[in-house]
Amino acid sequence: MVRPRKAVARLKKYRPPLEGRGGKMRLDFNENTVGCSPEVVRALRRVLTSDWLARYPEYEEGRKILAKYFGVEPKEMLLTNGTDDAIKMICDTFVDPGDVLVVPAPTFPVYQFFHEIAGGRLVGVRYDEDFRLPIEKMVAAVNKRARWVALANPNNPTGTTVSKKDVATLLRAAAGTVVLVDEAYFEFCGETVLPWVRKFPNLVVTRTFSKAFGLAALRMGCLFANPELAEAIHRAQNPFAVNSLALASALEAIQHEGYVRRYIEEVRANRAEFCRRLDALGIPYVPSSANFVLTRVGEKAPEIARRLRQEGILVRDWSYDPHLKGYLRFTIGSTEQTRRLVEELERMEHLIDTRDGARAWRNFVAYSSTGWFA
Ligand code: PMP
Repeated sequence: MVRPRKAVARLKKYRPPLEGRGGKMRLDFNENTVGCSPEVVRALRRVLTSDWLARYPEYEEGRKILAKYFGVEPKEMLLTNGTDDAIKMICDTFVDPGDVLVVPAPTFPVYQFFHEIAGGRLVGVRYDEDFRLPIEKMVAAVNKRARWVALANPNNPTGTTVSKKDVATLLRAAAGTVVLVDEAYFEFCGETVLPWVRKFPNLVVTRTFSKAFGLAALRMGCLFANPELAEAIHRAQNPFAVNSLALASALEAIQHEGYVRRYIEEVRANRAEFCRRLDALGIPYVPSSANFVLTRVGEKAPEIARRLRQEGILVRDWSYDPHLKGYLRFTIGSTEQTRRLVEELERMEHLIDTRDGARAWRNFVAYSSTGWFA
C-alpha cells in the first residue's frame, strides 16, 4: 500500500460522532436542539432550482451583507466551511512541520487535529483548580516561539471563558504569533473580541452558524482578521469551500434574529435552572457560559449515558478518555428538554456518585496535566 505522510500515519484514529441521531433528544453535540428558524427552511426551498444548483457558488454579494451584519469590512472577513475549515485554513497558512500550537487543556480537539496533520507539535496549558486558565503560563508557552494559539471562548468542554483583559494580555505578549479566538458559543455568553481585529494584527476571530443559529448540517462559518492577515489566509483557501446553500441559509438566518435571540434566552435560563438542579442532586459541575454543562457523575457515567440513550436522550460521555472518567457533558436546550433530562437524572440518582464533589475538579485537572497534551 502507498504510505501516507508520517504526520498522518501518526494520528490517533478519529472517532466520528454517533450516527442515527435523528428523532432523539440531541444533548450530545452542543447544537441548537430545536432547529433553525422555519423561515430559513422556507427560503431554502424557494432558492432551490436545478439551474441554481448547477452553478458554482457566488460569494461577493453575500459576503458584503454578512460583513455588515458582523460590523466589519468585507476585506476583514472570509467565509468558511464551518469553524473546522477555518482551523484548517490557519494550519494551511501558517504551520510548518515542527511548529508549535499552544492550547488550553482540555479544549476542542480539532485544533490539535489539523495542526498535527500539518506536522506541528502541541503544547497544552492546563486549567487550575478554580476553573481558571493561567494566562501567565499561556504567555510563557507562547514566548517559546509558538506559531499560533487557539482559544475557544467559551471553551469546550468546560464552558469556561477567558476575560477580555487576559485575551488582550496574550495578544500583546504574542505579537508574532497568530491568536485564534474561536467564538463558536459567543451567542450564549455575549462577550466578544471581534472589534479587536482592527487593533491587533495577530488576532483571528471565528464565528459559526452551527450552534445558536441551528445550521450545523450546512457547515457555515466566518473568519475575521485584519485585511493583510485575512488576505494571507484567503490565499490558501479552497476557492469553493463554502456551498451556495450554506451561504443562502446564513443570509436568511440573520434576518430572523428574534427567533435566535429567544432560543438563546431560553437556553441561558435553562442552564441556570439545570445547575440549580445539579446543586440539589449534589452533582459537581463546571459553571458554564456556553450551551452545555460539564458534570461529574462518577464511575457509572457510561451506564447513565446508556440508560439516557434508551430513553431517547443523547448526552456526551467522556469516559472513553482515561482522564475524564466519570464525566458527562450535557447540551442545554429547550425548557421541556431540560425538564425531561432532569427528571431522568433524578430517576438515576442511585447511579450517581456524589460522595466527593471536590475530587471532581482535581481529576479533571489531572486529565489536562498528562502527556497527551504535552
Ligand atoms: N469550535 C468549538 C469550540 C466547538 O465546540 C465546535 C463544535 N463542536 C466547533 C468549533 C465546530 O464548529 P463548526 O460546526 O462551525 O465547524
